[in-house]
Amino acid sequence: MGRTVYVNGEYLPEEEAKVSVFDRGFLMADAVYEVTSVLGGRLIDFPGHLRRLARSLGELEMARPMDDAAIEAMHRELVARNALVDGMVYMQVTRGAADRDFVYPVGATPTVVAFTQAKPMEDTVGARDGIKVVTMPDIRWGRRDIKTVQLLAPSMCKMAAKKVGKDDAWLVEDGFVTEGTSNNAWIVTKDGRIVTRDLSERILHGITRAAVIEYAAAAQMKVEERAFTVEEAKAAAEAFMTAASAFVTPVVEIDGVALGDGRPGPVARRLRELYLAESKKRAV
Ligand code: PLP
Repeated sequence: MGRTVYVNGEYLPEEEAKVSVFDRGFLMADAVYEVTSVLGGRLIDFPGHLRRLARSLGELEMARPMDDAAIEAMHRELVARNALVDGMVYMQVTRGAADRDFVYPVGATPTVVAFTQAKPMEDTVGARDGIKVVTMPDIRWGRRDIKTVQLLAPSMCKMAAKKVGKDDAWLVEDGFVTEGTSNNAWIVTKDGRIVTRDLSERILHGITRAAVIEYAAAAQMKVEERAFTVEEAKAAAEAFMTAASAFVTPVVEIDGVALGDGRPGPVARRLRELYLAESKKRAV
């Protein structure tokens, strides 16, 4: 593939990009990350990703390895060196390499890696046809608001959805939908209310979610931030999910029940258009 990858201040050919086997990101998933979409060579929702990265690091008492200006410069440099037009930049910060111990090491130097991935972003099958989801128990840990790299539970849930021929899993806890495996979950009730789970430690505070709430309000569309059950979701007029890498993507089926006419709904389509138009204007 021949990408240029960022590792601790250096831009290296991907075969030469390496970190220590003692890195706590590798040994203990002691690491946080961000995924920023790139459209037309520009970074989407970047200030939000910077803010959340700082918050994740703070929650884990991890040192901030670079300031925001340096992180943005590094992202731009990676986009330029890899001639990235559409795709994403992945950035990971670990607590660094140290002898294996459950106690956080004192004075470890954080490891910072980042790389690009080119892929079509706007014209996707999911955007055109919608995705199908199945619900299953949310088996993840209790601090889902911290964007850590421990992604095995959502990965297992996604695989379970794929095994039954669906696209993703919506995770359920105490009878209420928390979120998708890698996205925030939304429904539109039959009387037109747009609903998504309220913020807490139970879900990731999606950057796309926050932007969609803002753009919806500006377009006089009201969003209710509250928990909803699987039954309410199945009875909804439409549903969709949001994520940096998927923007607003319609959900057309939940547990085998088609929503509406089984095609992407008008609210999801409108919010996708609003999101793309507004976030491109603000891209850096
Ligand atoms: N929820 C989870 C569990 C995620 O992993 C993600 C993205 O990776 C999201 C929600 C969506 O967040 P964002 O819009 O910031 O990409």
